[in-house]
Amino acid sequence: MPDRFAAGHSNPGEANGRDFIRDLVAADTASGRFGGRVQTRFPPEPNGYLHVGHAKAICLDFTVAAESGGRCFLRFDDTNPATESPEYVEAIIEDLRWLGFDPQETRFASDYFDQLYDWAELLISQGLAYVDDQDAEAISAGRGGFGQPGTNSPFRDRPVPENLRLFREMAAGQHAEGSRVLRARIDMQHENMQMRDPVMYRIRHQHHYRQGDRWCIYPTYDWAHGQGDAIEGVTHSLCTLEFRDNRALYDWYLEHLPTDDLGHAGDRPHQTEFARLELTHTITSKRVLRRLVEDGHVDGWDDPRLPTLRALRRRGYPPSAIRDFCGFIGVARTNSRHAPELLESFVRTELNATAPRRMAVLRPLKLVITNWPTDDDGNPLVEYREAVNNPEDQSAGTRQVPFSGELWIEQDDFRLEAPPKYFRLAPGREVRLRAGYFVRCIDAVTDAGGEVTEVRCTYDPETSGGQAPDGRKVKATIHWVSAAHAVPIEASLYERLFDTELPGERTGDPLDDLHPNSHEICTGVAEPAVTDIAPGQVVQFERLGYFCADNAAAGNAEPSSSAPRLFHRTVGLRDEWANIQKRRQQQGAQR
Ligand code: ATP
Ligand code: MG
Repeated sequence: MPDRFAAGHSNPGEANGRDFIRDLVAADTASGRFGGRVQTRFPPEPNGYLHVGHAKAICLDFTVAAESGGRCFLRFDDTNPATESPEYVEAIIEDLRWLGFDPQETRFASDYFDQLYDWAELLISQGLAYVDDQDAEAISAGRGGFGQPGTNSPFRDRPVPENLRLFREMAAGQHAEGSRVLRARIDMQHENMQMRDPVMYRIRHQHHYRQGDRWCIYPTYDWAHGQGDAIEGVTHSLCTLEFRDNRALYDWYLEHLPTDDLGHAGDRPHQTEFARLELTHTITSKRVLRRLVEDGHVDGWDDPRLPTLRALRRRGYPPSAIRDFCGFIGVARTNSRHAPELLESFVRTELNATAPRRMAVLRPLKLVITNWPTDDDGNPLVEYREAVNNPEDQSAGTRQVPFSGELWIEQDDFRLEAPPKYFRLAPGREVRLRAGYFVRCIDAVTDAGGEVTEVRCTYDPETSGGQAPDGRKVKATIHWVSAAHAVPIEASLYERLFDTELPGERTGDPLDDLHPNSHEICTGVAEPAVTDIAPGQVVQFERLGYFCADNAAAGNAEPSSSAPRLFHRTVGLRDEWANIQKRRQQQGAQR
């Protein structure tokens, strides 16, 4: 059955294809503002792994460029030697490709350090930058606050030659870390705090993963970002709302630099801000994600409970579903949070169409068919039953599933005493076995503790076609696995990593809201054809949900046949988003 919600919606991002950024790009193209060019960039800092929030920025940057026949570069914003590493660079490149995007070029802000240095000297020589000997605390205090003017640094009026000499000494490693900074000389009274003589360079006697020990001064984000855009010929520099106040500074730097010499047609690059993507019940702060990984709250950056792209991939989220989700939520100018159920709804829609079906039992209970035929030696016969691989996709064909006198069924599908509205198996009750026969429970074996250890049934050979010739109905169809043919599996089931909607809202620390039992492993069984599922492929275990075969198996040259295959539950079958929508509508109607 198609996903009710997703089947019925149209995608505003794509169907209407309009938002304020696309309107802006269209207007700029029409007016010839950037010489008719459109160029964007996705600028991650290589200090962590990409997460679902980045996916929104990526989709926007790349599709806005592609829609106008423009270009989008990947630029590593690698100006902070302390936290960056090649491990993250490689992971970001890989994740971007997995998400389905291919940058025209890959650049590094650190490659622009020489140009930035020259430009810094230029600003110094024009009296637009100065070396400040105050420490970080004094600089911060001198900035003032909102509605409270700043005070000029005692070093603000240093003569140009002295500034140049000190700056060169800083670059040559002659000054201690933290002893001086280079600041732009703008306006300590400016109402925008970003404009109160922002820091351009800090002294860091640190090794840079690409530049080695060449530099001991490192540019700040603001001093590097717009200049990187100008060097590359970016037209539309799209970033998230927290940079709104930095835009004035972005413009100020570019106005005071000879960017016309860079050889790109049209105007200087322009920054436009859009809202971050946040999901409830999770966090997309790289700092918090790193704590989760490093403190062992999760099993690495690809732990399927994380919102990182590699975790979503390991969990079986199709990249197209993530792109569709990003298109659907669109871009706006105000921050908002989305329920993860909405993203899951896109994942389910895609997997419903593509995932092959198999039968697996996660909490096995033995079912014995007492009237099942045996051969001359008394061994139960084996019959191969035909099962449809994907009811949504005829071309996926059918497969043969072995059926015999001893089966595994789910513990949940049997009750000694059936509660009201429980229509599955119970003493005296008849149900249909999927792709099998009708079976009627005649007895149940219990252990000393009263736990059911075996369900005994008779089957009706006349119901081979899934219907009874006499027209009698059953109210439930359950899944099963032939015990003699069962393949051992392990299924990892995941709950939300955080059990509050806004992790950290209560105490300020998101880790206080960690869900104590967000991961459960079931040791179960599956039909033989589960071995067709390739590592990384998603299967629908009938009635249970979508599960992704773990990739680690791919690393084993000879996967031992007895070791259980590991599956991660991608999403359940029920569309929780549709329920949320319904609840919201009902609440709306009551108001
Ligand atoms: P953090 O502050 O956690 O380190 P960041 O936003 O600084 O994250 P970057 O690697 O600098 O991470 O981000 C690269 C790009 O992705 C930036 O343009 C940023 O605006 C965008 N981005 C990051 N997080 C989100 C998000 N949640 N939603 C949309 N865009 C995002
Ligand atoms: Mg950043």
